[in-house]
Amino acid sequence: MDRRLLIAGNWKMNTTYDQAVELAGALVEKVGSIDALDIAVCPPFPYLLAVGQAIKGSNITLGAQDVFYEDNGAYTGEVSAEMLKDAGCKYVICGHSERRHVIGETDELINRKLLKSIAEGLYPILCVGELLTERQAGETIEVVSQQVTRGLEGVSATDMKNVTIAYEPVWAIGTGVNATPDQAEQVQAMIRQLIGQIYDASHAKETRILYGGSVKPDNAAELLACPDIDGALVGGASLKADDFARIIEQGLLMCR
Ligand code: PEP
Repeated sequence: MDRRLLIAGNWKMNTTYDQAVELAGALVEKVGSIDALDIAVCPPFPYLLAVGQAIKGSNITLGAQDVFYEDNGAYTGEVSAEMLKDAGCKYVICGHSERRHVIGETDELINRKLLKSIAEGLYPILCVGELLTERQAGETIEVVSQQVTRGLEGVSATDMKNVTIAYEPVWAIGTGVNATPDQAEQVQAMIRQLIGQIYDASHAKETRILYGGSVKPDNAAELLACPDIDGALVGGASLKADDFARIIEQGLLMCR
């Protein structure tokens, strides 16, 4: 496969400082020397530096769960892309469904965050996905296409090489009900086709598109085997070193 797999763990608003460092240390031991695929962990902001220290020297990279689009100034509570770079982040999640639907982020806001991340040299992971009601109403393709198109507005063909997309159906996140491989593949393939329309065939071929939504050790293999799934964004299962390592091992099998 041309595209390198990425297995990224989104720890969300979980762990204490000690738990974060312990989890990172356990991951270094279990999967830290794997280099056939990319591995990232996205801890809460306050633990970025400590987790960065714990994974130092391993092949695990650091990501953030969110970013703000301004450089600095009177934006209480926000964190800039430059700060994330400073803290050692490579990746940043933009537009996670919890930020869209709990916090109320719009496509426009997410696009600004994504553009700023790229400008600062970060690698954004743009999350898209439909609600259950939207799927039931037959609106999945329309909703996801719009999120992708609006999220990528103003992203040049050159910069697109640094962008990863994650298809995460909202009804599958944290519910234990993953999309079936067929359901996921249908949307992933549509996203790839759309990238081809917005950019060109080579971008469509090269863009990494992850799946996220209740990925676990026992469903990872069948999801990662889909031709348009290039890795996973993992929430709950990334909080257990054994489970996350087993998902990574399933990814590793796809690389051989
Ligand atoms: C996520 O947080 O992006 C996610 C997919 O969560 P979970 O794996 O718990 O469904």
